[in-house]
Amino acid sequence: MAADLAVFGARIRTMNSAQPFAEALAVKDGRIVALGSAAQVRAECDASTVIQSGSDWHITPGLNDGHQHLLMGSQVGRGINFDRVSNLEDVRALLRAERKRVGPGGWIQGFAFEYAALGGVEYHHELIDEAAGEGPMLFHALDMHTAFANGEALNIAGVTGARRFADASIIVTDSTGAPTGELREMSAINAVTDHAPIPTEAEKLGWYEETIRAQNAVGITSIHQMDGGQETIDALRALEAAGQLNLRVRLHQWIDAKTDPEAIADIIARRDQAGSMWTANSMKFMLDGVIDTGTAWLEEPDTHGNGTDPMWPDMDHFRRTLRQFHDAGFYIATHAIGDRAVREVLDAYETFPGESRHRIEHVEAAPPTTVQRFARQKVSASMQPIHLRWINADMTDPWSERLGVHRCDHAMPSGDINASGANVILGSDWPVAPYDPRLGIFAAQRRYAPDVDDHRSLGKSRGLTGLETLAGYTINAASVTGQDGSLHVGGPADFVAWGADPADCVPEDVVELPVNLTVVAGRIAHQTV
Ligand SMILES: [Zn+2]
Repeated sequence: MAADLAVFGARIRTMNSAQPFAEALAVKDGRIVALGSAAQVRAECDASTVIQSGSDWHITPGLNDGHQHLLMGSQVGRGINFDRVSNLEDVRALLRAERKRVGPGGWIQGFAFEYAALGGVEYHHELIDEAAGEGPMLFHALDMHTAFANGEALNIAGVTGARRFADASIIVTDSTGAPTGELREMSAINAVTDHAPIPTEAEKLGWYEETIRAQNAVGITSIHQMDGGQETIDALRALEAAGQLNLRVRLHQWIDAKTDPEAIADIIARRDQAGSMWTANSMKFMLDGVIDTGTAWLEEPDTHGNGTDPMWPDMDHFRRTLRQFHDAGFYIATHAIGDRAVREVLDAYETFPGESRHRIEHVEAAPPTTVQRFARQKVSASMQPIHLRWINADMTDPWSERLGVHRCDHAMPSGDINASGANVILGSDWPVAPYDPRLGIFAAQRRYAPDVDDHRSLGKSRGLTGLETLAGYTINAASVTGQDGSLHVGGPADFVAWGADPADCVPEDVVELPVNLTVVAGRIAHQTV
């Protein structure tokens, strides 16, 4: 039987050392059946084969975003995108435009709001009530730990003052005791969002499909999803059944110190649930928070005296639970940002029997002694160089100010970890940062984000080369689970045709690089005309 799809005349970078380049490939039933010269590939085709001519295409394996929140991001990422909006006047202009779009009485939503846009002023809904117009409004801060509502939304929700919550949530109030509209943490945010229209399952699936299409359009064919549980698995199953899961998803199920033994037993019992495009035999632990707010776990306190505690109050409990999932055959990803948290996770992984198959997420502060341990212990480092966009070379940002000069030298050392021989996986943490891998490819090499004015590289770590960066988005991500992410005969037909080779064009050119064609499991998921 002939191939379904074939591409001729392209420059194909396979990321496979046995056959680094090819000029044609053919695909059947989601797999690569021929890869090499035009003559070799033509032998697999007949009149039924869809032929793509790629004379100025540069093909690479499909990109894998090694850390993101696909479904949660699709739900929260509605309405106004406040990414990089830096002042209140621009915020108001966006609100006015959105009110026009949704009409009077409709809900204005938004996400990725940067605290700095308030210009150092405490949020109060009076600042934006006029701009938000007639109707409710609620938007999320970029870290999703805070939301901001207008007066109308507070009225609809019946929020008139402070409340007590079982968790650390706070409805912020002004000097008169009235709510300002700033809602800190989940329960406070839910006090308002519980009164917003509830999306139907069909609506939610529509949002997921939209996000998946948008990710395919920038070259993403796989992701490692870092949150979720059985509900997420059900949604992935529904997407796949509807033929809409054009993305391979390795789901890391969420666990924290409050997860009870029955829930753990249940996750372990259902470890082998999987579809043809998704798996659920991975876990996500979180040992600390973030540096900017003083919740990262540090060897020495930060400049405000914070950073002294882990997220799991009982470290023995943390280690026991990690071990339980290790013994049950799960792949583990642990969020560890502060130098102490990173060291403690490495210490814990080191005690596990057998070959390591685990990873650490973020690794934002790690001295050279810790950097060297990743390769030795075969622990993968999952890093997001695009997060350098919130660090300033002059160290006036909250991240640098908290850590202080000395520790800033060791900021996000992806190049140093990679150079030590460890496996580095790259990603975005979307919706925290944009998922467009072209931005991450730039930041990984230049060590500053493409959307900042100051073009000095940050920290003392070396940058990654173009080829190392592409490996971080392809073969390295696949190798965590023992898979071969290169293009090879018999392998999955996941590939992208770019306007130039992202591994060897200058990073400045990668940011706008055309994505001509994205193929996932042999299906064309994106194509420009
Ligand atoms: Zn995350």
